[in-house]
Amino acid sequence: IEYEGLTPEENAELRRGGLLLAPLEQVKAWARSNSLWPLTFGLACCAIEMMGAGASHYDLDRFGVIFRASPRQSDVMIVAGTVTKKMGPLLKRLYDQMPDPKWVISMGSCATAGGPYVRSYSVMKGVDQIVPVDVYIPGCPPSPPALIYGINLLQEKIRSEARRKKVNPA
Ligand code: SF4
Repeated sequence: IEYEGLTPEENAELRRGGLLLAPLEQVKAWARSNSLWPLTFGLACCAIEMMGAGASHYDLDRFGVIFRASPRQSDVMIVAGTVTKKMGPLLKRLYDQMPDPKWVISMGSCATAGGPYVRSYSVMKGVDQIVPVDVYIPGCPPSPPALIYGINLLQEKIRSEARRKKVNPA
């Protein structure tokens, strides 16, 4: 058995039947990475693929990913679609209302760089102009498996940051 989120050495220790002790930060990161609650934030066609990823066929729930309708209950914002300049300040306000720690996934070429509307006067050329982005998922639109891969990358990022803190405590 390979336990997700553990290093090969930690997996080997568990297979030997040993007791695995981990710093509290790493345990919290492991728990957080397996219970990500994204804010429902569909802006355009990419949101259809996000909804598809949440439905029964791809079943995001199995990764602990449960969509929430309130920023107060969310720790991930999946920006799925075209961010217009009018929507930008509202998106930032919702981001500010999310409690720490929090993460952002930019889903699709519109959210990442303006996509097909890059020459439009009304569209932002990337959501990272207003919020920090942790994972970019390319595509127009990205498929549900691509979104799942992006979420897996975010999970690994959360766990590896906790591991780095252990090696190099700030
Ligand atoms: Fe639609 Fe493509 Fe933009 Fe996604 S990236 S919102 S599919 S135009």
